[in-house]
Amino acid sequence: EAKSGGHGGVVTFSESLGNERRYRMALENELRDAIREKQFTLFYQPIFALGEDRQLRGFEALIRWNHPRSGLVEPGGFIPAAEAGGLIVFIGDWVLRQACNATARLHKRLTARGLAASKLPYISINIAPQQFLQPTFSAHVQRVLLETGVLPELVRLEVTEGVAIIDPDQTRQVLEQVRSWGVKTSLDDFGTGYSSLSYLQNLPFDTLKIDRSFIASMDDPKSRKIIRAILDLASNLNLSVVAEGIETMEQGALLREMGCAYGQGFHLGRPLDEASAFALVLPESDRTGA
Ligand code: C2E
Ligand code: MG
Ligand code: MG
Ligand code: MG
Repeated sequence: EAKSGGHGGVVTFSESLGNERRYRMALENELRDAIREKQFTLFYQPIFALGEDRQLRGFEALIRWNHPRSGLVEPGGFIPAAEAGGLIVFIGDWVLRQACNATARLHKRLTARGLAASKLPYISINIAPQQFLQPTFSAHVQRVLLETGVLPELVRLEVTEGVAIIDPDQTRQVLEQVRSWGVKTSLDDFGTGYSSLSYLQNLPFDTLKIDRSFIASMDDPKSRKIIRAILDLASNLNLSVVAEGIETMEQGALLREMGCAYGQGFHLGRPLDEASAFALVLPESDRTGA
């Protein structure tokens, strides 16, 4: 884009706002192209049991934008714009279908190899508040479940408390609806934001994900106390817990000692493209031709 000249490099307040708006609009146009041209791709980060044998239990699907000029763009670079422009609904529907499709195919291959249903990895999918609160959302979930044939019990939907802040009643209804089909529900980034305990009391979640900011600051005794309190709360409410952002062996060991059952993070496994991620669970002989 052309830079406006002739102002001696002085950008006034209103001009900079204008630039920001123009940038936002250009980005939204590019996102529209991206949807049409199918430029999005999913990475998968493994989620492990923190026990001795460190079993892989599932994957979190994480979107990436394969931008024609900029290369692979992480969600921080475009999800906010997609949310502001309402495009997140289309993108999110694609993510749900793509993740369920890929997982159903993986499960088929693993089952053909004799893996028991109880050992199949689950798929955890991030749902933006705007997408989750669409009146058609649960119908869309049901359609995707039917059309992909993925086992509902192995699908988890991750939402943040943002949904409950916008519309607690609708949130409860949608969570109950999807759970009635066997789908599991996770409260993502727990501990940031308001973390009102009434959400935990009133909303049917299966899993709580501890935000990685607490894991990152685990050297601080205060952070460890907060993590202990969250683990305690979760255990009393029968919620399973996943710690996010485990970057060191020490953090993993300490969390395990504290009784945290599951974790994900760069120390355990980075987000990988589909073939590389699923290779973690496929037998050697099955890895080619994904
Ligand atoms: P999130 O759902 O909390 O996902 C976890 C983020 O933490 C991912 O970033 C992941 O790559 C990163 N992460 C995992 N382990 C570590 C670690 O050890 N250290 C550090 N520093 N980071 C770690 P990513 O992929 O950039 O995604 C960022 C956020 O974008 C996600 O946070 C989620 O809120 C959103 N997002 C990602 N994919 C989707 C999607 O398909 N739909 C929607 N609506 N949002 C998505
Ligand atoms: Mg998440
Ligand atoms: Mg999270
Ligand atoms: Mg996060």
